[in-house]
Amino acid sequence: MKRVYNFSAGPSMLPLAVLEKAQAELPDYRNSGMSVMELSHRSGLFTEIIEEAEQLLREIMNIPENYKVLFVQGGASQQFAMVPLNIMKNGKADYVNTGSWSKKAMKEAKKYGQVNVIASSEDENFTFIPKIDQSMIDKEADYVHITTNNTIEGTSFREIPDTGSVPLVADMSSNILSEDIDVSKFGIIYAGAQKNIGPAGLTVVIIREDLIGNAKDICPTMLDYKTHSDSGSLYNTPPTYGIYMAKLVFEWIKELGGIKAIQKQNEEKAALLYDFIDQSDFYSSPVREDSRSIMNIPFTIPGYDLDAQFVKEAKEKGLETLKGHRSVGGMRASIYNAMPVDGVKALVQFMKEFEESNK
Ligand SMILES: *Cc1c(COP(=O)(O)O)cnc(C)c1O
Repeated sequence: MKRVYNFSAGPSMLPLAVLEKAQAELPDYRNSGMSVMELSHRSGLFTEIIEEAEQLLREIMNIPENYKVLFVQGGASQQFAMVPLNIMKNGKADYVNTGSWSKKAMKEAKKYGQVNVIASSEDENFTFIPKIDQSMIDKEADYVHITTNNTIEGTSFREIPDTGSVPLVADMSSNILSEDIDVSKFGIIYAGAQKNIGPAGLTVVIIREDLIGNAKDICPTMLDYKTHSDSGSLYNTPPTYGIYMAKLVFEWIKELGGIKAIQKQNEEKAALLYDFIDQSDFYSSPVREDSRSIMNIPFTIPGYDLDAQFVKEAKEKGLETLKGHRSVGGMRASIYNAMPVDGVKALVQFMKEFEESNK
């Protein structure tokens, strides 16, 4: 069997232990004579899976009682519409513009109400996270929206803004489960699964109960949080296999020692790469130091035209999907939870060798 270190921004690596468990259980799940994909979503066996998945997520993220966990479809991109359709009661919301995904979220929200950009780093190519304080927030805004980790630009909120009584909504697609966060600071957290949770097709929503049940009249049934909350995410057929895989990933995190242990490992991985980039006069980081993501690390080789060669030679060494996003250029290493420390070490070793032979 060949496994590579896959630095893709998403879909991304899954832990090998999780894939092997899924493989072992694939044709005959717990003596049912069926795979999880073939089980009815109303069956006892699947009920156990979805309930355990929720319980595990509550445990590892320490989710308070007054929050619901929803397993839905449509990706994080569908949340860009679901959030305003459900909670934009006064017709206006504050957004922080920190990158391509924030912009897409704003574009969608504008269809349903007024979007106020209270802070932006667009003038400086989204290379930093602006500071947010309460005086910037409209007290009558229905919510404040942030993108906690900017997957494309490689920036991240190192501090969660205090929005007072205005609910904070976060697109946490690319850093959920990577570090310890206080869920009670948020009104809604949403994340597409394909970065840190499991396979694509599942979206996780964590929502404070008082924000459910206020959807606009035009809100489609399937986009109303209440539909999914009232039915335990079983209004229609949920992405059953994705939920099963997410459950295995949550178990894997718990066995590793929980989010704090994962965070420590993630910080070590990011430091390995950033320390190397910082000491090098060949590689460079486009991101301001106080805003660096520990999940997505873009880097460039200024003054040379070597990006394509770097990506090609890295691939030959089993280091895949390092091409940077077209809007940033250069390279990007996404080092989500499932990327082993050894993968980052192998990348740094390759970067050293590449620098020596091309400088
Ligand atoms: C990947 C990503 C998205 C898009 O997710 P989909 O599930 O493909 O809709 C949105 N926001 C962020 C921050 C992302 O990383």
